[in-house]
Amino acid sequence: MRIAIIGAGASGIAAGVSLLRAGYEDFVIFEKAADVGGTWRDNTYPGVACDVPSHLYRFSFAPKADWTREYASGDEIHGYMRRVAEDFDVMPHVRLGCELKRAEFEDGGWNLVSSSGDEGRFDAVISAMGVLHKEVYPSIPGRERFAGTGFHSSKWRHDISLTGKRVGIIGAGSTSVQILPAIIGEVAHVELFMRTPQWIFPVDNNPIPEAKRATFSREPERLQALYELLGDRLNHRLAAALVGQNEEGLREIADACVQNLEDNVRDPELRERLRPDYAVGCKRLVVSSAFYPAIQKENAALVTERIAEIVPDGVLTADGKLHELDVIVYATGFDPFNFHRPMKVIGRDGLDLDEVWSGAALALRSVMVPGFPNLFFIGGPNSPIGNFSFLLTAETQIGYIMGLLAQIGEGRPAQIEPKAEAAERFSREVDAAMHQTIWVTGGCTSWYFDKNGKVASWPWTYERFEAELRQPDPDEYLFA
Ligand code: NAP
Repeated sequence: MRIAIIGAGASGIAAGVSLLRAGYEDFVIFEKAADVGGTWRDNTYPGVACDVPSHLYRFSFAPKADWTREYASGDEIHGYMRRVAEDFDVMPHVRLGCELKRAEFEDGGWNLVSSSGDEGRFDAVISAMGVLHKEVYPSIPGRERFAGTGFHSSKWRHDISLTGKRVGIIGAGSTSVQILPAIIGEVAHVELFMRTPQWIFPVDNNPIPEAKRATFSREPERLQALYELLGDRLNHRLAAALVGQNEEGLREIADACVQNLEDNVRDPELRERLRPDYAVGCKRLVVSSAFYPAIQKENAALVTERIAEIVPDGVLTADGKLHELDVIVYATGFDPFNFHRPMKVIGRDGLDLDEVWSGAALALRSVMVPGFPNLFFIGGPNSPIGNFSFLLTAETQIGYIMGLLAQIGEGRPAQIEPKAEAAERFSREVDAAMHQTIWVTGGCTSWYFDKNGKVASWPWTYERFEAELRQPDPDEYLFA
């Protein structure tokens, strides 16, 4: 079988490793950028780190004993991704600088066209394009008129020194909360423009001593025990808390966030401005012990007045105040509903995936779409997103995809796609379950919601995700 993987980020690399291990040698990983590593290649802003604990953020097949901090920096994770791609012989399959433009299913196979032209025919396509790769800029008038330098957090301008500059950060999510403490010591002044406060769960990010790293290397069972402890805490207990299955756990997390705010913000007025009015867990939980100290520094200011427009000299807020700035950082997030775009995907009988998903994006168990034979998604609609290890999510989906691939190929049917009724039933179950989740009941909006108010995540426990994707049920699929 000839297989195409789209994207050489975490999930594309892991899919490559799984294909090789299952004996599939004939595959190409198309990567639009000049390097592998996905989000960890793109996000290089000051302070970038993973807020999933390092020892949980690893592929099962490549345990890492020598993480240098409890929450690894983006650079260290990028290095890990590259090393895995090299050590597991994935690199010879990667075509860097090759962006796919079109995938069309014709006469039982997928014809692919890239920025360089015709890429030929493939029996199966695995989309591993990531969830948060399409940056979003705020719809604030005047952005193009700013006379200083403005850029998105994921397109950091390392050629611009921030030393002694007046910097504005728009947005108050996980990204902004990492940037502010990282630049506060360098800038003349930083203003954080916050539309909605976030609950912040306190965690320190301590270095991991050499001796401890050596112990993990010598005694892999201790590394595994730590992985399981962290997995239980995040993927199981936190996930259950968010979907309404662990009330006590949710209360504990909420108490820790409230206490963090009470204990660590001195000025009562500032404290109230930083206090969200929605439930903890409704927006993706922000994790930091560095943000509250940083926002209280003399050269930091929190701006909660609505932004009216961006003008050449800076930001004008609705109260008529001009905030003079040299640099504006747009920490305004990503569009998780971008999926395959801007690539055009045409399935069986000329079905256009953009049209099929124009109402809501849906895939059976987050992986396959009716009408699109042998097209598999990693990180597809209703994947568990949030404060979990995306690496584990991706591996679970890849395991399921390997099960689907095993149903087709030499001596078996050539094509597989979900039955429409199976996908519709799954969709109804998702909708019914979503109502109990904190994302819906918590009284907030977030990037989890699509334009029609549907939430993109997995509405059940992580155990259920793993159980449902352990093995495909052939009764849910059509074969040709
Ligand atoms: P985000 O969580 O979507 O936050 C975007 C921020 O921009 C929000 O505060 C939003 O305000 C604000 N915003 C958007 N439009 C605005 C406007 N017109 N005016 C004022 N404010 C505006 O984005 P993010 O911080 O980049 O994080 C996105 C996701 O990336 C995270 O949730 C996480 O999954 C991932 N991430 C992970 C890590 C990690 O450590 N693993 C680190 C960074 C990011 P509202 O809340 O009012 O909409």
